[in-house]
Amino acid sequence: MSQNSFSTRRRESVGVQVGSITIGGSAPVVIQSMTNTDTVNEAATVAQVEELARTGSELVRITVNSAEAAKAVPNIRAKLNDMGCYVPLVGDFHFNGHKLLAGYPDCAESLSKYRINPGNVGYGKKRDEQFATLIETACKYDKPVRIGVNWGSLDPEMLARIMDENAKSKKPEDAAYVMREALITSALESAAKAEEIGLKRNRIVLSCKVSGVQDLIMVYRELATRCNYALHLGLTEAGMGSKGIVASTAALSILLQEGIGDTIRISLTPEPGGDRSREVIVGQEILQTMGLRAFVPLVAACPGCGRTTSTYFQELAENIQSYVRNEMTVWRDQYDGVENMTLAVMGCVVNGPGESKHANIGISLPGSGENPVAPVYVDGQKTVTLKGNNIADEFRQIVDQYVQE
Ligand code: SF4
Repeated sequence: MSQNSFSTRRRESVGVQVGSITIGGSAPVVIQSMTNTDTVNEAATVAQVEELARTGSELVRITVNSAEAAKAVPNIRAKLNDMGCYVPLVGDFHFNGHKLLAGYPDCAESLSKYRINPGNVGYGKKRDEQFATLIETACKYDKPVRIGVNWGSLDPEMLARIMDENAKSKKPEDAAYVMREALITSALESAAKAEEIGLKRNRIVLSCKVSGVQDLIMVYRELATRCNYALHLGLTEAGMGSKGIVASTAALSILLQEGIGDTIRISLTPEPGGDRSREVIVGQEILQTMGLRAFVPLVAACPGCGRTTSTYFQELAENIQSYVRNEMTVWRDQYDGVENMTLAVMGCVVNGPGESKHANIGISLPGSGENPVAPVYVDGQKTVTLKGNNIADEFRQIVDQYVQE
């Protein structure tokens, strides 16, 4: 796995080991995702975890919301191990996490990390007791914990306290400020309590998720200055399709550019029956296009215009993009090192030869015509001109040969 030479200065954070993966410290930004299967359905959950891991999710979170789900967790872990899939599993706990973790030791043991939400731990005296049980279990099994605060489930007692303090201050701030302050306070106070109970700082990850881009940026900038815990970054409830992708990218790329964020999750609402692994691909593409990490060869393609009157150019670009995405990932040992390669698929001679020469391998199509003729450039030199109807296959062979050599 490589991290290329992009030199943004990362905020210093305490590294947290989660199975074989490190979050924070000097580790590259980690990509993670979450299943949307019923955890009790072991076969479906195993299949989705494996698919997410194969796509590149370095941690996979699963819901643990009932006794049946807690019982399923060790079986899911064992089945994944049998398949050779060792991706660390993170258990997502709300409301009854203290009972499930304390009551199902095999579940507590087989998870690599617990995610708890301070707003959903309980209220009053019970809250402290239940929170302590969660943290003591983490200490007992030496598991890291993400203290994940969410805009939609803030601890109401703490929010009331912050509102009260703000109202009494000489210069009261607006409601949005109070909400952001409540999120940050909830995360930091919960982390301090966890440390008091005995959880080490190198076992704690924090997150403060909101669904608004500007709010997320403000919250994380502030959180980053107030602590050195490793930070999990994500825009919660980002939404569907292009809206979810654009909103997540807008928020995360600004923070990542400032060196904030040690692990990311892109929370996309899948289309009905849609592909869950899309959020992993979007996360990888954010990191790779920003130059923070590299996963697969990057494919540059022009947008096409009135000069590309056939669909041949789009088909070739799509064909090559899917080929490198599906085949040439850093997860496949034989392709180790290809992730920094660049490919160019260009529609015509206006920018085609120039862009192709900048790539490791580039092809410049003729724009239109029944019998395409396409010069191919390898490391800046024109090497061959492809003709006829087999250009896509022949171009792929050139890419394969380049990789092998
Ligand atoms: Fe249009 Fe050619 Fe530019 Fe592609 S390279 S956008 S086909 S002018």
